[in-house]
Amino acid sequence: MPTPISHAAVGFAIAAWTQQRLPTRRVCIVAAACAALPDIDAIGWPLHVSSASLFSHRAITHSLTFAFVGAAVATIVFFRGNQWTQGRARIALTLGLALVSHACLDALSTYSVGVEFFAPFSQQRFRFPWTPLGPPSGGVLGQLAQEAVVILLPAVLVGWLGIKVRRRSVPSRAAAGD
Ligand SMILES: [Zn+2]
Repeated sequence: MPTPISHAAVGFAIAAWTQQRLPTRRVCIVAAACAALPDIDAIGWPLHVSSASLFSHRAITHSLTFAFVGAAVATIVFFRGNQWTQGRARIALTLGLALVSHACLDALSTYSVGVEFFAPFSQQRFRFPWTPLGPPSGGVLGQLAQEAVVILLPAVLVGWLGIKVRRRSVPSRAAAGD
């Protein structure tokens, strides 16, 4: 399954492209953390949580409900303000997308169980019809190589490109008097 680093890279790429201007470092870091957060359910393994439980792997923490609530809470905690301004709402949306990206990436894999997108309302587990993150033949190294090619490198590239494009657009806007 995708490692936290790959998930975080996707969160960073989302932050790089979804803010109106050059995203702040804080937005990038919190979005990356949000994208990795759903695997916090791994603490259920040593506790032998039943696979039918809402707190089992790829259940509630991988749901759309968790993404919605998590994005709101993370925005309130890390981006303080008295009102829901447009900028803050956009940050919440970015964090929500970062959280949802985690479940979507997991649903592209054939490891482990499917994803409970609609928990706690439905415990049906989903996997996308296309699973490029299937079990690689080369063991752990093969898995990491596959993941680097399919997720990590493209995500880092897309994020870096986003930052570069935004950075370039800042002086031109300033010159235009914006
Ligand atoms: Zn996961």
